[in-house]
Amino acid sequence: MSDSLTWLRRIRTNYSLRTITGLTRKVSVCPLPSHVHSNNTASFSIFIDRETGVEKWHCFGCGLRGDVVDIIGYAKIPGYDPIKAEHIKAAVSLLRAGYEMSPTDHKPQTKKTLPPDLYRMFPLGDKVIEYGKTRGLTADTLEAFGVGQADKNTLVAALERLGENASWVTNRTYMTLPTFHFGALMMIKLRDISARSKGRFIAMPGSAPGLFGFSNIYNKSFPIAIVKGEIPVMVLWQRGIEHVAAPTAGEGMIDEKWKVFVSYATNRIVIGDNDPQKVKDKLAAAYVKRCHVFGAKLHFPPEEHHDVDDWVLSDPRAMDTIRQWLYEGVHL
Ligand SMILES: [Zn+2]
Repeated sequence: MSDSLTWLRRIRTNYSLRTITGLTRKVSVCPLPSHVHSNNTASFSIFIDRETGVEKWHCFGCGLRGDVVDIIGYAKIPGYDPIKAEHIKAAVSLLRAGYEMSPTDHKPQTKKTLPPDLYRMFPLGDKVIEYGKTRGLTADTLEAFGVGQADKNTLVAALERLGENASWVTNRTYMTLPTFHFGALMMIKLRDISARSKGRFIAMPGSAPGLFGFSNIYNKSFPIAIVKGEIPVMVLWQRGIEHVAAPTAGEGMIDEKWKVFVSYATNRIVIGDNDPQKVKDKLAAAYVKRCHVFGAKLHFPPEEHHDVDDWVLSDPRAMDTIRQWLYEGVHL
């Protein structure tokens, strides 16, 4: 182990997660700002990792996990990436400066809704169009889903309109991904387009979980596909799989009531990611829940592809296979 890692490890054991978070119960309401609270379900647990003896936390609602350094990272550093040395250093310096989460950081949120036209504050911009290209998406597709670009000024303006704190906003550019149910704006997700890892998202305060692509699947008497995220939804849609959607929040927040939205579907499939077997095993329960809620059969891309969008973009046979899955056993 390198010197800096030993040092980091000591930091991780020297500070108490319970003291820093102010959470005393075994399971609490998640204190992270990126956690989307539709109701204040206790989903955040603190435990001692048996292998290392280090205090750790895990939220089965938003799916994030980590140790005392990571909790500060996710709470205070926008776009925090737990494997980025600069992010870890920034979190550690906050720890050493005596930072503790204030009780207001994790006060149960009152239910708010987003104004339906909020997404219009983020028109599509060049940087997001460029980023979309790298993910195989055309500007027309982005436009069709109401995707836009948030820069510092527009983001601050939107947060001020909502009466939310805007002091954390930096010069980053985000792709904005709105989710609508029956015309109500459920969520705007902000994806940092400079972050290398996928899945680095912040939710606009006041967001609630939903289904991205809701109108593609609601009450449709066609085969439907549920995929893992917004970008895969758009990639499949652009290639002619119209009836596709993705939950916008972690498995813990998939609503059993959504089942009724897809009750007319003639077939339902869930397409998962090819994570390493260890991660796949960990996610098994999550996939079971997803399949249970949607009454769906689970499929994975061929092993050499990590996720469905990578597969579709690099293998010309992918769309045929997905269509076969969709129409398996369906009488036309
Ligand atoms: Zn959470």
